[in-house]
Amino acid sequence: MMQEFEDEKSWTYGRMPEYLWIGLILRQFGREEGLRKLYSIISVLHKLAPDLYTARMSQILKLDLDVQKRFYQHIVCVGAKEVLAPLTIYLTATKAPAFAECFYCSEQGVDERCNSITETMCKIMDHQSFESTDIRFIALYFNQLSGKVHLLKEQVDLLSAYPSSAHSDEIMRMARPTVRSLEMMILTFEKVDSDYLQGFWRCVSEMTECNIFVIEFPEEKRNITAYMENLHEVFVYLSELFTAANPLNEKMNVLLGIATYSYKRLKEIYEHSLFNSISGRSCVRVLIEDYIMTKYLVKNEVSHDNIWRDYQLYGMGLYKLVLARHRESGASVDSHFDEKFIEALVNEFKGEEFINMDTKYFDKQNVRLKAESVDEKDLYGLYYDYDSSFEHGLWGAIRESSLLKCNNPAHKYHFVPDIEDETKLKTVLPDCIMVMNKTVLYLNELYGIPEQILNEVINFEIKSVIE
Ligand SMILES: [Zn+2]
Repeated sequence: MMQEFEDEKSWTYGRMPEYLWIGLILRQFGREEGLRKLYSIISVLHKLAPDLYTARMSQILKLDLDVQKRFYQHIVCVGAKEVLAPLTIYLTATKAPAFAECFYCSEQGVDERCNSITETMCKIMDHQSFESTDIRFIALYFNQLSGKVHLLKEQVDLLSAYPSSAHSDEIMRMARPTVRSLEMMILTFEKVDSDYLQGFWRCVSEMTECNIFVIEFPEEKRNITAYMENLHEVFVYLSELFTAANPLNEKMNVLLGIATYSYKRLKEIYEHSLFNSISGRSCVRVLIEDYIMTKYLVKNEVSHDNIWRDYQLYGMGLYKLVLARHRESGASVDSHFDEKFIEALVNEFKGEEFINMDTKYFDKQNVRLKAESVDEKDLYGLYYDYDSSFEHGLWGAIRESSLLKCNNPAHKYHFVPDIEDETKLKTVLPDCIMVMNKTVLYLNELYGIPEQILNEVINFEIKSVIE
């Protein structure tokens, strides 16, 4: 079994389980009446056990059986028997005989008791919530009765105002942090009961079920067949123009090549319905990068001699580098890198010995700088970086796409791997179309796409996803 280090002094793991009984009473009776009842309860506890300086349940359970019984009787008298009954789920007759005897209610089933506990825990797992601060106030107040800690007058004034003020009152903005920091102070001389804590967590986590929280965005079902067909028309037109008018034009070769790559990526996502998937995000990213590169090349063609040739050389140089590695160390024939084919591609372009192997960015500028230079900073900043997290498998993307959260506080909100693929990411369709249209409009500026075909693409309207 894996031993996980837990901070036994922390609120959530170490103190909250000890004070859960206070939380149950406040939850049942509401703040005003709950605090009143608790004042009576802890006053009696102090009278019965004047040496006790902490209201931790583990310490109450260590009092003489007789003292315990008289204390529990008082709680029953103020009408809180059923309220504390859920605790008998782990304070059983064997572990806490006097407690179980007083509070066990046969009419409260296991599920009901577990629900009361997890619902209360939901509110008090956060150490700063109003509900936890109220509990911490009671814990502190009980400690004050024992006279162990001496406070400053301003602190005493704030504490006296605390129970009679509403959380919305101005004074509470000072009072709550004071309560919390003073409650932390009493920690220094409180004893931690590790067995009690372990027993509590083991029991509540085993007794309650996982409550898996799945994020499911609507599945992309909108029909974009017409859009894809019209987009195809645009590319048919441009290809024919290229072959007929200027087949050896390197600029058009490069620009049409880049745009076709974007088109094919989008088509893949469309044909395999991947708009809600991780691959969809990869598609948006590459569409953006291609679009930025297109604009960058055109912008710099005057200042950079042979930019179209250099751009191709740069890409083939990267291929040549991988080829060299494969020749050195040899790769399996089943590798998706096919040595013979890649070798042919590298040589087709120019004798491979003439190709520079430059592993830096093309023009030594990364995508961000290129995006800035072509006024597409937003496209880069708002979209590209996010999708890059998916492409590189960074934690944000992993958390979003591959881990589900269990919402059960008794399980400390752990994560569960999403191996059954329950997560549905938000669709990338509108963004794909948005970037594709920018690309098409840009090609139109350069090559003049007939208005009718162009408009069919640009004016395509996708329906709103909410119907
Ligand atoms: Zn769970």
